[in-house]
Amino acid sequence: MKIISNPLELKKYLKSNSKIIGFVPTMGALHEGHISLFKEARQNNELLIVSIFVNPTQFLHGEDLDKYPKKEEADKKICSLSGVDILFFPHAQDIYTDDEISLQAPSQRGYILEGYSRPGHFNGVLTVVNKLFNIINPTNAYFGKKDAQQLHLISLMVKQLFMSVNIVEMDTMRESDGLALSSRNIYLSQDQRVEALKISSSLQVAFGMVNSGILDTKKIVKKMREKLNSLEIFYIEALSRDFKPLTSIIIGNSIILVEVKVGTTRLLDNIYL
Ligand code: AMP
Repeated sequence: MKIISNPLELKKYLKSNSKIIGFVPTMGALHEGHISLFKEARQNNELLIVSIFVNPTQFLHGEDLDKYPKKEEADKKICSLSGVDILFFPHAQDIYTDDEISLQAPSQRGYILEGYSRPGHFNGVLTVVNKLFNIINPTNAYFGKKDAQQLHLISLMVKQLFMSVNIVEMDTMRESDGLALSSRNIYLSQDQRVEALKISSSLQVAFGMVNSGILDTKKIVKKMREKLNSLEIFYIEALSRDFKPLTSIIIGNSIILVEVKVGTTRLLDNIYL
């Protein structure tokens, strides 16, 4: 496995490349969720490139940028064992200078849900993903449905900016008890972890209601709210797959999204229906 931190060096290395490139952008502290993306990308591409970059522009002032979990050595090992060909591991100064051009998230879908509680977050996400795509020029790029709004906005960027990369959507990996895997789970104490299980079980409640024919999104959200009432709820929303409001679940075109705070940790999850 080759490790490269300089974007221009990576571009130069890839210049004469004619291989099919699979790319998985991450912020490190790798877990089975990330590994599922690596496996899929490994199987379907000739060259597998993973980036580890804790992107400062997607963190708001006062968020956990400085204490975001870092596990550099373990991450390198996981990448190597997962068959990664190139690990792109830049520093912030390799990616950003001063007085930068940046992308703006769309004014509606970029500022609801996570974008409402973290205004500007998705500008940072889109800007860095755009930069990474320009450096790597991947054939396929892999993103998790766990970050459904991020995935939607990246797909929108690719479509609206006529980019050539194919976005592959990957299912959420969970612990055996249902908790969605996240790098931030390590912030949780044992008691908080138990509380956090209410998130996936609230989504199961929604799934059960829809299965029994209750499609009214107000009723579903109310039941979920009851289940999560001991936690600080940022949002519980039922939306169409293109992130427009829904009064009634449309099977095959709906997502219910949740974000809560457990202790000081923001956790998000969702279910595609
Ligand atoms: P992150 O390092 O948190 O920025 O995540 C990198 C990629 O892994 C993103 O596309 C995430 O959506 C995806 N990811 C994170 N957690 C999971 C999970 N539990 N299952 C599947 N994919 C995930």
